[in-house]
Amino acid sequence: MLEFRIDNLEAFPESLKALLDANLKAIDAIVEDEDANDFASVMGATDEMDERVDTLFTPLSHLNSVMNSEATQKAYEACLPLLSAYGSKIAQNTRLYEKIKALKPTTQEEKQAVINDVRDFELAGVNLPEAQKTRLEAINLRLSELSNRFSQNLLDATNDFELIVDEADVAGMPQSDIDAARFTDEAGNVRYRFSLQMPSYLAYMTYGPNRTHRETLYKAYNTRAPQNAEVIDEILRLRQEKAEILGFANYAEYALQTRDAQSEEAVLSFLHRLADAALPQAEAELEELAAFAKRLDGIELRNWDTAYYAEKLKKETFDYDDAQSKPYFEQERTLQGLLELVSELFGVRFKRNRDVPVWHESVKTYDIYEDDTLAGRIYFDLEARKQKRGGAWMHDWETHFIDTKGTRHIPSAFVVGNVAPATDASPSLLRHDDVVTLFHEMGHAIHHLFSKVKVRSVSGINGVAWDVVEFPSQFLENFAYEAAVLKRFAFHYETGEPIPDILLEKIKATKNFHAALGMLRQIEFSLFDFMLHQKLYQGDEVQALLDRIREKTALLKPPAYVRFQHGFAHIFAGGYAAGYYSYKWAEVLSADAFFACLDATYGFDKAKAVGYKRHILERGGSEAMSTLYRNWLGTSPKPESLLKLYDIKERV
Ligand SMILES: [Zn+2]
Repeated sequence: MLEFRIDNLEAFPESLKALLDANLKAIDAIVEDEDANDFASVMGATDEMDERVDTLFTPLSHLNSVMNSEATQKAYEACLPLLSAYGSKIAQNTRLYEKIKALKPTTQEEKQAVINDVRDFELAGVNLPEAQKTRLEAINLRLSELSNRFSQNLLDATNDFELIVDEADVAGMPQSDIDAARFTDEAGNVRYRFSLQMPSYLAYMTYGPNRTHRETLYKAYNTRAPQNAEVIDEILRLRQEKAEILGFANYAEYALQTRDAQSEEAVLSFLHRLADAALPQAEAELEELAAFAKRLDGIELRNWDTAYYAEKLKKETFDYDDAQSKPYFEQERTLQGLLELVSELFGVRFKRNRDVPVWHESVKTYDIYEDDTLAGRIYFDLEARKQKRGGAWMHDWETHFIDTKGTRHIPSAFVVGNVAPATDASPSLLRHDDVVTLFHEMGHAIHHLFSKVKVRSVSGINGVAWDVVEFPSQFLENFAYEAAVLKRFAFHYETGEPIPDILLEKIKATKNFHAALGMLRQIEFSLFDFMLHQKLYQGDEVQALLDRIREKTALLKPPAYVRFQHGFAHIFAGGYAAGYYSYKWAEVLSADAFFACLDATYGFDKAKAVGYKRHILERGGSEAMSTLYRNWLGTSPKPESLLKLYDIKERV
């Protein structure tokens, strides 16, 4: 397996270039070779090249996300045009395309790999006239620059802001949040600092008692990176142009070519169906919250109040808040518990490896063994720090496959989070939400790491359709609410006492608190993203579209200054363009599967877990997810399962 090491950031782009050039030469040799007509000598060879490029570049893109510095940015930015040009050269290699199209694959894995590759060549414009090919290449290059700029603008803006407050303004907040914010200023006074980084921002929005400060933070957060408006316009223009060049009416239609969803209409009607189901309950939820805020403090509920009063209402209704369960979710023990659960269910073993290089001292590395054979490696980098971008994600590094020499490659992945680090007063403690997120990312990681597929391009998360890629992550996340699962690792960090049953009941009961409002919010993002890519929107039209959608989905209208889109990194800096609906789309599978696998005493039905590993996790992208799903459970997933998961009752 590879070691995580980048010795020389300055020289990195050059070594990447050398590898890319060598690959292009090797591809030339393949297309020239009249005897190269079988799967191994064509796609087997290109798969190996892909693996070499990805395993070289992933550590740099990872480093740029988790240990961001001017040097990583510079190296990363220098690599983007190289990769883009390389990708375009291959994608427009007509002779390679024809060679792959003529292959006679013998296994299902090979067959799927060829189908995907031919489709991707065609979507990359291999059949276009020369001038349009050139234009497409320029568009792709510019798009990757723009998404990087979007992300950098957002990170800079997030780090640019801080709010310094006094003791009275943190009164009543959880002690761990107070500790994390406390510092001594130059005059020697103890003060408290809050930022736009997620743990800090959320802490104040949820518990911060000073309404003016909450509004200040809310405004700062929702007006970040105004320069992204221009970036968005250009991205949208180029995506529309790209779709048209390839013969599609709009970018959404283009994007659906590689999705599980069959049509634009299918996506929109799915989202509207969920919205209609959620609306009546959401109205009731908001009404109750507004009445509560009025009763408590005599205020008209505004957007910077919702998290704060929701937390208080939740506490009043269930006598529960995050602060109660947090002492039971010590980071190390939670992680151990998760690893033990995964070990038991799927028959693997995790062994801590302290000998491999890592990028930060807080990173924890584990080797995965299956039948005493090394089968994978996983790196956990869970704590927030200034150089790390926000959120949580799984990043695949090495992929499982058998190369043309018959050698098995062992997969590896990074799981990244942004939980609050240890303070002088306490170890790193997780909110229950953080526990859920950790399960979620682990669900992605085992999808990648448990692959048994021999063909690289459809192994692990490779080749999995975008809109079902969240299925394994959401599926595992659902178990992070089950008492039988949480009991395994939830022990008080000071006393060692197991988490009380009553708290477990409350975690479950609060899960669906404001579920309909939450569902509407996700639908709002999904509709905005999808419709934004159905025709060209520019300048004020972008906000106008969002406002129009919000007429249905936003029951509490945000202030006019809010520019949600400037921070919508999923679709402008990630891979989710015209694909945010995937979260809900995949959730139908994950909810349906969850009810099939739930076991009241054990948490997770062990026999079903074995089937899940064999039929879903081990099969990666080697077949359509709907087929894999049917092979596993014998039925297709029902949308009603999703409403049931959230306890949303549809009115007929
Ligand atoms: Zn995910």
